[in-house]
Amino acid sequence: MTATPATSMTPTADGRPEMEGEVFWPAPEVVQHTIVPDWDALAQRADHDLEGFWAEQARELDWYTPWDKVLDESNKPFFKWFTGAKVNIVYNCLDRYMHTAIRNQVALIWEGEKGDSREISYAALNREVCRFANVLKGLGVAKGDRVTIYMGRVPEIAVAMLACAKLGAIHSVVYGGFSVDALAGRIDDSQSRLAITCDGAFLNGKIVQLKQIMDEALTRCPSIEHVVVVKRTGAGVAMQSGRDLWYHDLMADPAISDVCPTEVMDAEDPLYILYTSGTTGEPKAIVHTHGGYMVGIYATLKMVFDLHPEDRWWCAADPGWVTGHSYIVYSPLLNAATSLMYEGAPAFPQPDRWWALIEKYRISILYTAPTAIRGLMRFGDDWPGRHDLSSLRLLGTVGEPINPEAWKWYHRVIGHERCPIMDTWWQTETGMFMITPTPVVGLKPGSGTRPFFGLRAEILDEAGNPVPDGEEGYLVLLRPWPAMLRTVYQDPDRYVRQYWGRYPGKYVTGDSAKRDRDGYYWVIGRVDDVIKVSGYRLGTAEIESALVSHPAVAEAATIGLPHDVKGTAIHAYCILRQGETPSDALAAELREHVGRHMGPIAKPEAITFVDKLPKTRSGKIMRRVLKARALGLPEGDISTLEE
Ligand code: ATP
Ligand code: MG
Repeated sequence: MTATPATSMTPTADGRPEMEGEVFWPAPEVVQHTIVPDWDALAQRADHDLEGFWAEQARELDWYTPWDKVLDESNKPFFKWFTGAKVNIVYNCLDRYMHTAIRNQVALIWEGEKGDSREISYAALNREVCRFANVLKGLGVAKGDRVTIYMGRVPEIAVAMLACAKLGAIHSVVYGGFSVDALAGRIDDSQSRLAITCDGAFLNGKIVQLKQIMDEALTRCPSIEHVVVVKRTGAGVAMQSGRDLWYHDLMADPAISDVCPTEVMDAEDPLYILYTSGTTGEPKAIVHTHGGYMVGIYATLKMVFDLHPEDRWWCAADPGWVTGHSYIVYSPLLNAATSLMYEGAPAFPQPDRWWALIEKYRISILYTAPTAIRGLMRFGDDWPGRHDLSSLRLLGTVGEPINPEAWKWYHRVIGHERCPIMDTWWQTETGMFMITPTPVVGLKPGSGTRPFFGLRAEILDEAGNPVPDGEEGYLVLLRPWPAMLRTVYQDPDRYVRQYWGRYPGKYVTGDSAKRDRDGYYWVIGRVDDVIKVSGYRLGTAEIESALVSHPAVAEAATIGLPHDVKGTAIHAYCILRQGETPSDALAAELREHVGRHMGPIAKPEAITFVDKLPKTRSGKIMRRVLKARALGLPEGDISTLEE
């Protein structure tokens, strides 16, 4: 490795370190009052004593039996954490609060798209989870069984997940926006015994026919014995007698008890399986555990978002993604915070719905994705301007590299230049935030800053040598972390091959990135998406950000297509902001604009104006689909493509 990272990143009384590029520093009050005011001190301590750091975090949670070993590396890359310990994540999310004042606090605030709302206390949530766990037990669900959950964003999705975990059953949540094929494939792969769904879900003023899609999928999935159906829309659905049961009927049975013992699990027992987004290829089912996963998500949310019990936290993802698993359902409960779940679409019935929710519920932290920020930015500054957003103190983003232009809009228009933005880089596989700021560090728009405490990252070339700072290469992780995936479900060979096969002993993320002189990491795209033009390697994120920095452009996607002279030429697809019209003159101007920002080599060969971009249902741009379409090739696995 070349340049040494700057010695101190945290602002000090006598001035701030010299740093490359534009840096946004937090106000001194923010620094003083955070849980980890001194980033460097803790980073050093955790780096020195990895196991000690994680053990300290783990001791803030409750264990039935303590661990013998924090980290067991005897069978790499099948790392184990907290071996010998007995635990259940649900005990830490709910049970342990029942004899404290937290039981009366609000665990979950829920608002439906139509404006109906519910507030659920920790005690009420615990009661519901116990009852539903008893229902599941009555239907034959036992420890180790898989249960598929295919629901809208209603509180019962959290109840369903927690009830499974309480019994030691393994949940497999399938995002409620998926169609028949994707759902059937995932049920079949997991061999679930039971499915939980809703009659439907409200989205954008329409009803998503969840039960009907489930029925179609089940014609191909013989493993399912029962389907539990939550009534949300009340629009009639077909119920297959003997197989389908209403949630409210089952829960109303006077024989169902409010008490249900929480299963004592081994720390390494699986908690859930979850399929990745499928941005780069076929999705894979990732396995997470009760012990290590719990510790990782607890510590990261607490430290990165400085989460206190009095916070009103809103993670606007869907519970069906890992973001929702870790940071809507489990970690806010582990931290005894109050979490908002919103059922509907961001711009329904009009573009200020989210801003109205923040004002109404006095949300203190908002965590969302670049795709949502860009989408809302398109409507202009007036919509957020109508609302009192003064309750916000921190913002966050995840899912894709955020274009600096979108970052600055979020910072200025939503955060009123007061709220630091936590750009968290992580994956379904990592379970928890990995490269992320905390509220006390200087921020650079578009960079996730540095690895979280106890982690080390490196940027490698093809041969596995670290590249000099400022150069792009393969992002790898050097040390294990407690929330890491344990394997790919039923495919341990794929786990070894895909994540540990390329560079011995190093976890391959599949992303390309660079590190700057200050030790800040910049994810610049998927490894497969890097475009090589005349021998230069260019990141899609950088070219797209240059396009989005033009006032006419709301969103952009770039791909490389074969070119006789250059080898590869850049093709760009742009969505314009409201009120802008496509023209050849604008295309020419955008080419020049990219050239000015990044150099002539990055000028797109062609620019196409579009109304939509192919995205995964989690909102990530699927460049491989654009490429296949441009080349007239088969689109590959598109089960996760948004409609
Ligand atoms: P698949 O692996 O099936 O192709 P996926 O990688 O999109 O799907 P996820 O696990 O949901 O599935 O996404 C993780 C990826 O999202 C990361 O590898 C990275 O490419 C991208 N990502 C997530 N957060 C950030 C971020 N803050 N900055 C840049 N990229 C991010
Ligand atoms: Mg991935």
